[in-house]
Amino acid sequence: MSATDPLPSAPHTVQEFVHGYEEEHRLRGFRCPNCGLTTATWALACPHCGKADLEEATLSDRGAVVAFTVLSVPGDEFLNDAPYAYVVVELDGGGRITGWMPSVKSESDLTIGTRVRFSPSYKPGVQFVKDEGDAPAR
Ligand SMILES: [Zn+2]
Repeated sequence: MSATDPLPSAPHTVQEFVHGYEEEHRLRGFRCPNCGLTTATWALACPHCGKADLEEATLSDRGAVVAFTVLSVPGDEFLNDAPYAYVVVELDGGGRITGWMPSVKSESDLTIGTRVRFSPSYKPGVQFVKDEGDAPAR
């Protein structure tokens, strides 16, 4: 890309992207039509192959915890929720997203690989709860 090339466009703005889960109760992401990468991160171009014309995708609202930590010192928005878990979730079908789980009060309440689902909340961030339903076929 040179300085005179027009900037690539995205199907939605960063603000619309972030508000997707707060107002529309869905997880928005992008899928690359060139290499197939699915990402939960807003981007103007594919972070894998560099293609500019990414397609908007609605991501799965279910996935598995791949990393977490339990926070006992919260930000103001979560004063009444601490302790809670800050989690990284690998969504079914692609996309890795950070969120939080109010039901997790200690490290023994959660394990890597726990199935979770998106549970829209009035709180900021992406709230997940344990998914008691069946795991998808693999
Ligand atoms: Zn790509």
